[in-house]
Amino acid sequence: MDTSRFRVRPGEQVNLRRYSPVDTSPLKNKRKAAGRLDRGIERLAVLQEKLYAQNRWAVLLIFQAMDAAGKDSAIKHVMSGLNPQGTQVYSFKRPSDEELDHDYLWRTNKALPERGRIGIFNRSYYEEVLVVRVHPDVLNRQKLPAPLVTKYLWRDRYDDITRNGTLVRKFFLHVSKEEQRRRFLERLDDPSKHWKFAAADLDERDRWDEYGRAYEQALTRTSTRHAPWYIVPADHKWFTRLVIAELVIQALESLDLAVPAATRPQLDALAEARKRLGSEP
Ligand code: ATP
Ligand code: MG
Repeated sequence: MDTSRFRVRPGEQVNLRRYSPVDTSPLKNKRKAAGRLDRGIERLAVLQEKLYAQNRWAVLLIFQAMDAAGKDSAIKHVMSGLNPQGTQVYSFKRPSDEELDHDYLWRTNKALPERGRIGIFNRSYYEEVLVVRVHPDVLNRQKLPAPLVTKYLWRDRYDDITRNGTLVRKFFLHVSKEEQRRRFLERLDDPSKHWKFAAADLDERDRWDEYGRAYEQALTRTSTRHAPWYIVPADHKWFTRLVIAELVIQALESLDLAVPAATRPQLDALAEARKRLGSEP
């Protein structure tokens, strides 16, 4: 699949209305996607094994979205074939008192993946230019020294966020307001989904347009060549998963991963070991 249409180009002025949440091209329905996703997941497992064995690169996948866009299920499906030992998933909720007493990158820095691992952030430091922007009182709770709270605060944060060291891919799951409504109603109608519903989600829904603007600016300002944002259509979950799987595969393939070849002394040691095992009574 040509995934370039989802990528936010550096310098592009993002307008979310130009990205369709219902796009599934070139696929017409879920049936065709299933086999492809299965093959993608197998491919991911092979790549992950190499990443782990090579132990040089760390990979960070960041997921951001409005409620009910399907972050959790995308993470669950796409990562289902991976070896849990090589992955680390963190969900970032409202910061604790301890976290608020540190600078805002502290909690996410601690959670960055180690070499050889795939780290997944379900929400991330990007909340700092999203929810914090939409709700000024959240910023007040951050206890920032007054001289730092200037009109440059957001610009400075965008700059902090783009300076990073790991292979980073960022996914904005783009769900439509209508589809969110449908999914909320489903949560209300289905007792097995009640736990997913929070009344506060409706307050955030009321701020849909403000979030849209905050997302557009964040996507515009922080998509770089090395840490690009992808705007992934999210009204059809089967398509969301497929796109993410393909994008993660492409990212891993760009790393030129290989299981490290044994050195001469290691090969000698292996030959010795084979001899010892062979000569056991
Ligand atoms: P789901 O609703 O699908 O279970 P979720 O990611 O929405 O998953 P919640 O516990 O509902 O999880 O929401 C987490 C909340 O924490 C969000 O409203 C988010 O905006 C908020 N949050 C995350 N990071 C920050 C932050 N740095 N400052 C303030 N609020 C934050
Ligand atoms: Mg939520």
